Amino acid sequence: MKKSLAIFLESLDLFSTPKLRLEQYPTPSSLAAEIAVTASIIDSDQDVFLDLGCGTGILSVAMGLMGFQVVGVDVDRDALKIAVKNSRKADVDVDFVQQDVRYLMLKKRAGIVMNPPFGIKKRHADRIFLKKAFETGNVIYSIHSAGSEDFVRKMAEFNGFQVTHVWKYRMPLRKTYHFHQKQYKLIPVEVFRMEMVLK
Ligand code: SAH
Repeated sequence: MKKSLAIFLESLDLFSTPKLRLEQYPTPSSLAAEIAVTASIIDSDQDVFLDLGCGTGILSVAMGLMGFQVVGVDVDRDALKIAVKNSRKADVDVDFVQQDVRYLMLKKRAGIVMNPPFGIKKRHADRIFLKKAFETGNVIYSIHSAGSEDFVRKMAEFNGFQVTHVWKYRMPLRKTYHFHQKQYKLIPVEVFRMEMVLK
């Protein structure tokens, strides 16, 4: 299942001209498949997932293929056009909204999946996404650069969430920007699953 999902995701289109300012790096297919399959097992009771900073929609499509209803949100219209095309190709129930995640408001909490900017180009960009995830989510899957665990745990605790799973993963990153020297580079990342602490 995971493997065939990853193989399909591999066929989706990526950012045509990635915008450095927005830290547009796609999630690799294998990791998107890993997260979606895990969520389909642990969080099968969840109906809706929001994909914050969905980019070209690989996580949205993966979650959609696992049977979730998904809303992908991104500020970049060019990325969203590709995401719509990808979701049509996969024939999944995904809607896309052009919106800065900071201004997103929901009346009901939903599941969150996200590979946010790591905050390398724009400091604290990841913090903005986490803040919104804690504000709108009940369960959160989030990808961060290695070394974020303390920070994520503290922020989760402060916002009434607990980290239930941490996966360490090496993300093969394809050459995306001209200053990348190699075709592929392995970036260590940490994937967190967090859930609201019920009082
Ligand atoms: N989730 C996608 C893309 C990850 S790159 C994937 O996994 O492949 C991070 C994405 O966040 C980019 O698409 C970028 O356009 C988007 N982004 C950055 N800042 C944003 C903001 N403030 N509001 C909404 N989207 C934002």
